[in-house]
Amino acid sequence: MSSNRAPKHQKRVSTAPFAAVASANAAVVAAPTGGGPQLVRGMRDVLPSEQAFWRRLYDASVQEFDVREFDRIETPILEEVSLFQRSIGKVTDVIEKEMYAFEDPGGARVALRPEATASVARAYIRHGMISLPQPVRVWYWGPMFRHDRPQAGRYRQFFQIGGEALGDQHPVIDAQLAGAAVAILRRVGLIPTMNINSTGCPVCRPKYIEQLVAYYRGRRSRLCEDCKRRLVRNPLRLLDCKEEQCTPLKEEAPQIVDSLCPECKEHFVRVLEYCDELEISYELTPSLVRGLDYYTKTVFELYLPNQEGRQDALGGGGRYDGLVELLGGRPTPAVGFSLGVDRIVNALKEKSAGEQSANGKGVKIFFAQLGEQARRQGLGIVERLRNDGIAVAEQFSKDGLKGQLERANRLGVLYTVILGQKEVLDGTLLIRDMEGGVQEIIDRKKVVEVLRKKLEGQQSVP
Ligand code: AMP
Repeated sequence: MSSNRAPKHQKRVSTAPFAAVASANAAVVAAPTGGGPQLVRGMRDVLPSEQAFWRRLYDASVQEFDVREFDRIETPILEEVSLFQRSIGKVTDVIEKEMYAFEDPGGARVALRPEATASVARAYIRHGMISLPQPVRVWYWGPMFRHDRPQAGRYRQFFQIGGEALGDQHPVIDAQLAGAAVAILRRVGLIPTMNINSTGCPVCRPKYIEQLVAYYRGRRSRLCEDCKRRLVRNPLRLLDCKEEQCTPLKEEAPQIVDSLCPECKEHFVRVLEYCDELEISYELTPSLVRGLDYYTKTVFELYLPNQEGRQDALGGGGRYDGLVELLGGRPTPAVGFSLGVDRIVNALKEKSAGEQSANGKGVKIFFAQLGEQARRQGLGIVERLRNDGIAVAEQFSKDGLKGQLERANRLGVLYTVILGQKEVLDGTLLIRDMEGGVQEIIDRKKVVEVLRKKLEGQQSVP
């Protein structure tokens, strides 16, 4: 069915819900007005109007991963709760407050995955990937679940794209992974800045944590309630606090870079040097520790420059040298990143507000017909074009040429193919160049060839 053709029973349905979804955070702030069953809080529909952005990001990701020797991996949405407890850490927001954990009908404790790195590490062990050439580079795209407080850019089901490289400890891999994340964003036209830090390793981190605890103990009364708890249970996370009252304390706190052991220091310096070579702009960010326990050494987050200070990173990642071993595998250094699809799509929407045409798929040809004979013959012609991989928009259910040409204009197509009564009789077609308004008559049998040539010529224009 053509997208413009509303079935009769839909005619009186308000378009308000669709307009609302066009705004970046509509799923959270705008209650759908069409009635019917409610969405579960924090969940949202990704409507057809958003698909062009999703598609663009997906295609860009596939292209980037393909040229960087990453293979796709698909892990289940449901995993054992213990996988995440062991890897992410029990005293983290993700595990303590946000995990959708429940007992399945067979009595097993399972969880909807809050992230995919732990699953990738599990798969690496389970499928003996250690025997493959290292590093093993894999990527994924899929939904994650966190029972977070819903707000703009924060949902309870959200999608992540991620890349992981397991089995190599060299700092160049850290920079390359950060580079891959940046490249995906650049490919869709977003230029991120990177905040970067090192969180040390089991040798140097404990000493740093002692210093941190000593510093915060003397200032305990000025901490938020969450941080008072963190001080006892997970002090590194004190640096992660976004509460206003804790910010000044964070700024004065001892910095981990000053406590790194020689190996971690050397690693960090080299990561930064490789980032320079890859022309990744970064900012050293001493308070960056990220929310998950498994990180060692490098951690980074990506923001759009004007998002600095807001809580909505587009993505982040880091090294997790201890995770595979923690889950029962052989010691395996690894590094990875994940990007938030929903947030990137929101950024793309904001960026293209106004410039977005109704033609999300970039269709360049419209087929218009006049009269029943033309409709019948046109069906076959359009089918031939589509079989040949040429995208064609049309409105076969409409009769008037005027309305069809208006739609062609709205879509911003380059050419409209017109089949009127005269063309039906003499076996020709009219091709109208929508920009210049010039029309040419072609032999109908040559339509695929002629249009293909025209479109190729178009592509070579810079
Ligand atoms: P994390 O695994 O927490 O480092 O998240 C990586 C990226 O996923 C973040 O930078 C966000 O872009 C995205 N993300 C994380 N949590 C959410 C959420 N609740 N809603 C939407 N995107 C999220």
